[in-house]
Amino acid sequence: MTRNREVDLIRLKGHLKALRLPTIQAECVKLAQECLSGGVDHLGFLLRVCELELIERERKAAARRLKAAALPAIKLISEFDFTAQPTINRLLVLDLMRCEYLNRRENVLLIGTSGTGKTHIATSLAVEACSQGKRVRFYRVTDLVTQLLEAREERQLSRIRGQLSKLDLLVLDELGYVPMGKAGAELLFDVMSRAYESMSLIVTTNLPFEQWTEVLDNERLTGATLDRLTHRCQIVETGGESYRLKDARRGRRPREVNKPEAESSKGPEQTPVNTGRPGA
Ligand code: ADP
Ligand code: MG
Repeated sequence: MTRNREVDLIRLKGHLKALRLPTIQAECVKLAQECLSGGVDHLGFLLRVCELELIERERKAAARRLKAAALPAIKLISEFDFTAQPTINRLLVLDLMRCEYLNRRENVLLIGTSGTGKTHIATSLAVEACSQGKRVRFYRVTDLVTQLLEAREERQLSRIRGQLSKLDLLVLDELGYVPMGKAGAELLFDVMSRAYESMSLIVTTNLPFEQWTEVLDNERLTGATLDRLTHRCQIVETGGESYRLKDARRGRRPREVNKPEAESSKGPEQTPVNTGRPGA
């Protein structure tokens, strides 16, 4: 490389840095050589470096959105075995993966007993939403309620409400596992009510609707919360037999896999789930 060219290259890299084009800065020399040997003209070169920059920007933005979503683990729907949970409406779940419910500000309610794939499906939907450019936040309900109670103590509720209001999708995992008390229920209801028709909620729960009053500690509140949640809502029932348990049983007693269906599918009692609207 001649001295002039070296100086040009240093200046070019300085300009690209000032213009905040790190991918072009890193790749331009290599790509220029490839274009030269491939007979690609200047415009063709410019097009390729711009495309590289945009792809890399989108990749980084998606990674940032995924990090901000604070998912407990990355789960994909391709890892989900629908044949193991025949109760689940596979077509509905796959349709939800297209994320159109987010544009309609609809909610998704996943109901079923523990270990039936509720969090897995909710997380897969959250991952997909992130990759489609949506702002997502995942909370276990108890963690969110604790944060809301603390924020209220410190007069910081408006800060957390401001953060939540920027979301396209709020995932509330494990509603109903732990009673949350009157104050907690009121704060949670407030979050759900602010979300109503301005963003989508995904709620996972092991509670049939009749039992929501016990957890939300207030009949009027529960009615109103359920009303908002289930208005424009897709309900996915995940059933009663734990995948974890089934998996563990398979692992521990491998020979029993070949036992007759009636014998091997005996699982924990299925909790009856009422998927009608409250009071319906
Ligand atoms: P829930 O939230 O209903 O209690 P999870 O979604 O946490 O259940 O599922 C428990 C574990 O079993 C997770 O590791 C999840 O990935 C896995 N799992 C559950 N159902 C399936 C399934 N049908 N196919 C593959 N993995 C599953
Ligand atoms: Mg779960």
